[in-house]
Amino acid sequence: MSATLLDGKVLGLRVEETLVERVAALKIKGVHPHLAVVLAGDDAASQVYVRNKQRACERCGIQSTRIDLPQDVSQEKLMQVVADLNGDDSIHGILVQSPTPDGTDEIAITEAINPTKDVDGFHPANLGRLVMGQSDGLLPCTPAGVMKIIEDAQIDLKGANALVIGRSRIVGMPLALLLAQKGIDATVTIAHSRTNDIENLCRNADLLVAAIGRPEIIEADWIKPGATVIDVGINRIEDKSSKSGSRLVGDVDSSAMEVAGYMTPVPGGVGPMTISMLMSNTVRAAEMKLH
Ligand code: NAD
Repeated sequence: MSATLLDGKVLGLRVEETLVERVAALKIKGVHPHLAVVLAGDDAASQVYVRNKQRACERCGIQSTRIDLPQDVSQEKLMQVVADLNGDDSIHGILVQSPTPDGTDEIAITEAINPTKDVDGFHPANLGRLVMGQSDGLLPCTPAGVMKIIEDAQIDLKGANALVIGRSRIVGMPLALLLAQKGIDATVTIAHSRTNDIENLCRNADLLVAAIGRPEIIEADWIKPGATVIDVGINRIEDKSSKSGSRLVGDVDSSAMEVAGYMTPVPGGVGPMTISMLMSNTVRAAEMKLH
């Protein structure tokens, strides 16, 4: 058996098509969705991520403004930039690319963003809404992308055993809340670096989400036959046969495709969905201004 591929690239483009229409409707009403992306420092991966986000904005008709700051930017300067963007009525979404430079306090920066412009969905007010069972606000993009993949594939999780490996603020924890919410109704287990016998937890999981950041740590024979496997991990490994000398792999060994019922590829699974959910949050933030 070979798993059905859950193609996030194709689904992401489909989501973006619906956004193009919503953006057009907003523009007729005089609202021009506008995302501000703050990039502090010279992290190579962040440069690529920001470029991809700006390209997605172009595809959706969203205006984007990029603010580049040096590696040695002070916390005060970053906070001032956020305050200025909060006060700028033409900006609907603010994203400060993670990681911010050493010596800056990323949590304080997140907390400084106006929650109605927090298109990353990491502000305590937005994460707190999730705990209260309210999932109609600005959701963290990667967990929202995972939920969209599951919804689109019409995978019924009522009563299913869902295992989320990873408990981060940006992926594992909010995703666990979304999976447990009323209407989705999965029975959720959260595993992490201190969990005993992850192997057996995996074998019992109807849905397995790996958000760990360890290349191919989840082996094929840990997967329950027919299970849905969502691989959030993005890991660069050495590969002498590839032109660049390296390639991207997930947290799940790709041979799990032979056992799973559904599986996301890496790359091309959760990654593109994260970006289209960012676009979706930006449009939503602009729409919220009308109400
Ligand atoms: P993180 O480092 O904040 O969290 C990793 C989690 O994995 C922790 O909760 C930790 O307890 C757990 N963990 C570590 N080692 C483990 C082990 N051996 N067994 C079980 N659990 C273990 O990372 P993050 O920000 O949540 O990201 C996780 C992965 O997802 C990374 O590879 C990251 O690049 C990727 N990611 C992808 C996207 C995307 O759009 N596809 C978005 C965000 C993060």
